[in-house]
Amino acid sequence: MDMANVMEQKVQDFMAKVIASNPGEVEFHQAVHEVVESLIPFVEENPQYKDAKILERMVEPERVILFRVPWLNDKGGVEINKGYRIEMNSAIGPYKGGLRFHPTVNLGILKFLAFEQVLKNSLTTLPMGGGKGGSDFDPKGKSDNEVMRFAQSFMTELQRHIGPNTDVPAGDIGVGGREIGYMYGQYKRIRNEFTGVLTGKGLGWGGSLIRPEATGYGAVYFAREMLATRKETFTGKVVCISGSGNVAQYATEKVTELGGKVVTLSDSAGFIYDPAGIDAEKLAFVMELKNVKRGRIKEYAEKFGCEYHEGQRPWIIKCDVALPCATQNEINGEEAQTLVDNGCYCISEGANMPSTPDAITVYIDSKILYGPGKAANAGGVAVSGLEMTQNSQRLAWTREEVDAKLDSIMIDIHENCVKWGTEGEFINYVNGANIAGFVKVADAMLAQGVV
Ligand code: GLU
Repeated sequence: MDMANVMEQKVQDFMAKVIASNPGEVEFHQAVHEVVESLIPFVEENPQYKDAKILERMVEPERVILFRVPWLNDKGGVEINKGYRIEMNSAIGPYKGGLRFHPTVNLGILKFLAFEQVLKNSLTTLPMGGGKGGSDFDPKGKSDNEVMRFAQSFMTELQRHIGPNTDVPAGDIGVGGREIGYMYGQYKRIRNEFTGVLTGKGLGWGGSLIRPEATGYGAVYFAREMLATRKETFTGKVVCISGSGNVAQYATEKVTELGGKVVTLSDSAGFIYDPAGIDAEKLAFVMELKNVKRGRIKEYAEKFGCEYHEGQRPWIIKCDVALPCATQNEINGEEAQTLVDNGCYCISEGANMPSTPDAITVYIDSKILYGPGKAANAGGVAVSGLEMTQNSQRLAWTREEVDAKLDSIMIDIHENCVKWGTEGEFINYVNGANIAGFVKVADAMLAQGVV
């Protein structure tokens, strides 16, 4: 067997154990597989990690909390959802990561997200461990009062497991400023303390400027750095973005500011194609539509008279840069090939694991610039880390200060990926991000003994 086959066999053996002990958790298997493909060769060369079984420990959450969330709907009927918090790894800081409220939420999805979060948080250069949580509750179509009653019930249980030095949740899909507000209110009421236990808070009560913008801006800063390795900029670039939530909105804003033209946005029902570009005025309409009216992206096409593609994803549109900002597995191998065939050569992931393994193979084989989510979308949690710092100091930094810190963190992450991922002429950002994120956590775990 040659070296590549020996490594592949070790990856297969490792995955066989992960799959057997975590049956049915397909997204978790996918996330672990992508990471161990980078890390097993690295660990073989660095036996201190192998002997201490660091990888085997990292795929096992430190703690999983699963609870009942009962609440009353507007008609007075009883509803029951599942609540979760995965406390994955605390080697380098308190557990940190978002809460997702979406009907697809299950243990496997949250474990994949928590696993990614550990490496992502390590990449930010800030002292944060990794966690993730959420519920199969669907905020879509619920009244504000229903969302509040659900959030209060969810926090009534979660509050006993979290704290500003223990575990600091934040938002993710389905959890924005409204949900964080209701949960924070309930935490404060039960614990009788005003602390930085959640991030993504409102500006008047401990939130940080630039937190709402951070994930989208960060993914664009990361793409800007990747483009710079080829001496290119965003000026004049045509950009396809998927999603139309917080990440997609602020990615659109930053691309436009840097001179690019965003031509698509989407939601779960379809995508809009606006060849003229989504300028600041049109973006303001999207923000009102999605954040206040909570309507569908189709209304954009009706308002501005552009194409709407029902039930489809934007990857059939010709572009230079693609920013997937919707959800996991939203680009498959065929769609990745279409993107590349149409001339797309830079992909920066605003969402977590939006590309399937087949899609990633297409990017790597085509040697395009590909920034995986754990590096490219780390700006969100990085500014959460800065929010925690401001809360500890009881200070609030200016917009310029936070944005400058975010920008320099994204530059650092990019440099770190280049350091660990350069293979001759090609920068393999997948290997770079996985190894750079791993080393810091692994060294902390070694130092702290078998715990
Ligand atoms: N949910 C975001 C992520 O995937 C942010 C988490 C946070 O701010 O803690 O990284």
